Amino acid sequence: MVLKKPKSVEELRYLKRKKLDKGGKVKIWIFNPECPKCEEGYLRIPYNKETGRFKSRARDFVCAKCGYKVPKKEIKEETPIANIEYTCPHCKYEGEKQAPFKRTSTKTFKFKCDKCGKIITVKKA
Ligand SMILES: [Zn+2]
Ligand SMILES: [Zn+2]
Repeated sequence: MVLKKPKSVEELRYLKRKKLDKGGKVKIWIFNPECPKCEEGYLRIPYNKETGRFKSRARDFVCAKCGYKVPKKEIKEETPIANIEYTCPHCKYEGEKQAPFKRTSTKTFKFKCDKCGKIITVKKA
């Protein structure tokens, strides 16, 4: 499987690099949703250039390209797909895969190694 790589972090809503036990490592990234209108831009939370912060209280995601707005709650309902590059801490296999990034109350993200089938656990924070 060949994963789509981000051209810039602006396309992403989540990015995490993490070293795991026993020489394992992982990189996880999730793209912002694609704009349903122009299908070229990405929807994201409006960014305040003066403070350098995302406007977390904004009600809409806005397309960076065409300005189309989608209510935040509509976007929250879907389960985003995480892109994962990993070196398995159990068998050292280097792989790439995708997995649903569930919004659960747990602070960890888990996925299975394609080679040895063992679960790899990553702390989200
Ligand atoms: Zn757009
Ligand atoms: Zn493995």
